[in-house]
Amino acid sequence: MSDPVLSLHGIEKTYNKGLPSEIRVLRDVGLEIMPGEVVALVAPSGAGKSTLLHIAGLLDTPDAGSVRIGGEEMTGLSDRRRTAARRSDVGFVYQFHHLLPEFSALENVALPQRADGVARGEAEARARELLARVGVEARADHRPAQMSGGEQQRVAFCRALANRPRLLLADEPTGNLDPETSDRVFGALMELVRDTGLSALIATHNLELAQRMDRVLRLDAGELAGA
Ligand code: ADP
Repeated sequence: MSDPVLSLHGIEKTYNKGLPSEIRVLRDVGLEIMPGEVVALVAPSGAGKSTLLHIAGLLDTPDAGSVRIGGEEMTGLSDRRRTAARRSDVGFVYQFHHLLPEFSALENVALPQRADGVARGEAEARARELLARVGVEARADHRPAQMSGGEQQRVAFCRALANRPRLLLADEPTGNLDPETSDRVFGALMELVRDTGLSALIATHNLELAQRMDRVLRLDAGELAGA
């Protein structure tokens, strides 16, 4: 049997340790995501969802516990190796698109590939292909400000997948959109994820969207249920 794409064990995270404001955000959190699996993370605001996604995506370190991506232990790696692993293995999507405003859609999707050493022609060809797959090829030369919220978010999905990560982490990826647009844009994301066989952990408040994934995990008061 293949290794889980993401595996977390015994994850602990406390902010403001030793201060009156100490807050134990994650308590003995464990989860495994298998290849091709799409998992919903449902949590009330403040429950520690962003902290968990940041730890899983190597943007933050836990106080204790193990983070494995593709079977490889990530805790204890040097900053340089963590950054390299993050860039090649993990794609991120946030609630807000975070596209670079002075660059076109095409350039926004090509740039992470260029940073990874891909030649310009090849990076732009892949960017065009990804934009076409989510239905925004006609916006390739537009800057973010010239696109709708749904289009911006579709471009952000393409950027997250540009370097062919093993794992997609998304924090309320359609949370900024009206319900109808959110539904369509989420559909585009799911199609893209399914087509590429990617594994994903997608945080959402929207229970209907959560039901469209393979499995639902609930995070409440720092504890994960349904794993
Ligand atoms: P969620 O994404 O579920 O809303 P977060 O993971 O952002 O929750 O935050 C969980 C809790 O940890 C919140 O109470 C938040 O205020 C606190 N918190 C988050 N980041 C920090 C930090 N850097 N320093 C102190 N407290 C933090």
